[in-house]
Amino acid sequence: MSAGTATGFWPAEPGDIQSPASDRGELAMEAIALRKEFKIGRRQSLTAARDVSFNLYRGAVIALVGESGSGKSTVARLLAGQETLTSGRVTLDGKPVDLASRGHFRAYKSQVQLVFQDPFSSLNPVHTVRYHLARPVRLHQHKTSSADVEAELGSLMEQVRLTPADQFLAKYPHELSGGQRQRVSFARALAAHPSVLLADEPVSMLDVSIRLEMLNLLDELRNNFKLALLYITHDIASARYFADEVLVMYAGEIVERGSAEQVTQQPAHPYTQLLVSSAPDPDNLGSILKTGGKRGANNAETPGRIVSACPFHPRCPFAEQKCRDERPPLMRVSATRGAACWRLDVAAPDVVAAGAGPDGH
Ligand code: ADP
Ligand code: MG
Repeated sequence: MSAGTATGFWPAEPGDIQSPASDRGELAMEAIALRKEFKIGRRQSLTAARDVSFNLYRGAVIALVGESGSGKSTVARLLAGQETLTSGRVTLDGKPVDLASRGHFRAYKSQVQLVFQDPFSSLNPVHTVRYHLARPVRLHQHKTSSADVEAELGSLMEQVRLTPADQFLAKYPHELSGGQRQRVSFARALAAHPSVLLADEPVSMLDVSIRLEMLNLLDELRNNFKLALLYITHDIASARYFADEVLVMYAGEIVERGSAEQVTQQPAHPYTQLLVSSAPDPDNLGSILKTGGKRGANNAETPGRIVSACPFHPRCPFAEQKCRDERPPLMRVSATRGAACWRLDVAAPDVVAAGAGPDGH
């Protein structure tokens, strides 16, 4: 493609950009051009997710990063089957997912588990830990003998380090700390023996002193269970800490994708540049986790409102007329890297030059 060779980036065709996690493990899930519109009022709708595509691989971590309101939870809920797609497709283990069929949905739900941000509201206060875990063990693993169930509960509690198991299994949510509740949430998700874990800001509501420990636990569970992990966060530094690929979301779209190293060390999209520069020090995760990190600047406009412009142009130091007139597609910058920006040659000349090599790396 001559235009591409000249400039070093061009609109990506489907399949043009490989995930840097694709060699980590088997393909578990494909999200293909997911779109979600919410009706707001009688005539207006809000596009919370637009053309969102990515793959999840067994044993790999894909981080979905963006500020509040960018559409991250919407993507997680779409993948978990808790919201219906406006358009787009999902596959699991190479097969198309049909969430309308009830039998199919049950099997899908055991394969794809969602852990929420808030460990306080996700557990029912009137039930013990044992109740929360025994249900999914019986339901998804078809275990009926109480000895089998007990053995499985003990092993789950050990995995999430809530021991002695019997003591914790008998407790009610209010008797646990925030971190302990989130461990129960992890155990409950694992009870279904999922292949995909969607973790929606799993440490954001926890005390800063235990965030790193919880991320390490999550990473260990990913490894032990060969989970395909989607780690959702507003904190790009924590994404760098353990993700294989980082997807940066802004106003419902993936505006940049690439290896965690590439995206955080040499961000190409002006929005990612802003996110990285507003994190205190991407190399110093300890301090970020201790201070809670800085959030990205506020979402200046409602996602989806601006249909025919780059959604980031009001905040972008590189914006020109074209950015106000036309929404940029995801540009292929290298074999594993893309950014949705018309001005990449000015915003990230080094990245473009590096990506323009003959092998595209
Ligand atoms: P994030 O998780 O990145 O903070 P969300 O996915 O929660 O973002 O929200 C993305 C956008 O979609 C926001 O503008 C939010 O207000 C809107 N939204 C989310 N859920 C609904 C809903 N059920 N109805 C209407 N708007 C919604
Ligand atoms: Mg959210």
